[in-house]
Amino acid sequence: MQKYEIGIVGGGMVGSFAAACLARHFSLALIEPNDPLPLEEIPHLRVSALTPFSIDLLQKESIFDYLDPARLGEILGMELTDESARLSLRGSEIGQLRLGYIVENEHLNAAINQRLKALDLAQIKARAERVERVPEGWIVHVQDQDPIFVKILLIAEGGNSQLRRQLNVNMEIMDYQQTAWVCHVESEKPHGLLAYQRFLETGTLAFLPLFKPNWSSVVWTLPSTQTFDLEALEQAFPDLGKLKRISKIGQFPLFAQQAESYVGKGFALLGDAAHTVHPLAGQGVNLGFHDVAALLEVLKEKAPLQNYSKRVKIHNQLYSLGFSLLNRLYQDEHYAVKAFRQLGWKALSRVELLKKLLIKMMV
Ligand SMILES: Cc1cc2nc3c(=O)[nH]c(=O)nc-3n(C[C@H](O)[C@H](O)[C@H](O)COP(=O)(O)OP(=O)(O)OC[C@H]3O[C@@H](n4cnc5c(N)ncnc54)[C@H](O)[C@@H]3O)c2cc1C
Repeated sequence: MQKYEIGIVGGGMVGSFAAACLARHFSLALIEPNDPLPLEEIPHLRVSALTPFSIDLLQKESIFDYLDPARLGEILGMELTDESARLSLRGSEIGQLRLGYIVENEHLNAAINQRLKALDLAQIKARAERVERVPEGWIVHVQDQDPIFVKILLIAEGGNSQLRRQLNVNMEIMDYQQTAWVCHVESEKPHGLLAYQRFLETGTLAFLPLFKPNWSSVVWTLPSTQTFDLEALEQAFPDLGKLKRISKIGQFPLFAQQAESYVGKGFALLGDAAHTVHPLAGQGVNLGFHDVAALLEVLKEKAPLQNYSKRVKIHNQLYSLGFSLLNRLYQDEHYAVKAFRQLGWKALSRVELLKKLLIKMMV
């Protein structure tokens, strides 16, 4: 039986990034059945806003160089609006040239995979079916292949992790009763390398700049009972003029979840397998990369896995709580809540320090 110090189940963006970071220090196998899809003229539906923190990590791990700059949507600033206020945030206000990039998930996955090939990493192209605890580690049973032995098991299977269920990890779950509708649009006016976020009573509406001046990716959060409609979209966000849909539409039911513990004896959860957050601030995969950076330190120090959970769990919970509160704040029509919102916007636009804090939290 093949033996490894570490086995990672799930090679989405977080699991494969973990493999790229850990492969230089440990013998490691990555188990993932799917290859990234090839890029097409129209970007794939799923895109992510990468923060400067994540970009820095990707650069340090020599992954950023594998991304095609012509396929990255640069974000120089953000325009936040609600029914009565507008707040302009620019990277330059916190000494950054840009606030981040919009990247297709498949593009980033392909770049990480190229890095994994350069590192000559053992990749097992199959599903892990179940795991078995043995005295020194785990036996991972893989579909149609021989089982492997790993000392430490890392689970990065995404929000619906099957091994997490098998290991009886308790989850705290909150159903937002909202759906995120996603599509790409071509707009009459250029996006100007800005991301737009509009806070509506029905939910947030984001326009994220893609790599062409008039292409944006739309993420519109609506109550689960409502459906997406292009005309309503133009009315809700008239700033970019007439819109033409250039991709199919996807819909994602929204819920927040946190594992009660990110670790157990000989195993740890990473990325969405450990926590899923509201997408209103585009932080999900960035929090996953933050998990990986913390785990790498703990494993290099040969410290107990518990330290990883201690380092990241509260950080992730605070973010998740912040997004849930912001989401909730706009669903409440009580006059006192409205007044509180208006006060908040005034404070943010007038107090420089608060504004800087907000930009830092968003990126
Ligand atoms: C509408 C929407 C917009 C978003 N926008 C952003 C954004 O702008 N910025 C951001 O940071 N985040 C964003 N997110 C969140 C982000 O998409 C997720 O946080 C991220 O995809 C999680 O990555 P992951 O690798 O943990 O999980 P996943 O992407 O779910 O990957 C899990 C992988 O595990 C594999 N797998 C599963 N089970 C097994 C098994 N048994 N054996 C082997 N392999 C297995 C799967 O094939 C898959 O490749 C958004 C989410 C939504 C819904």
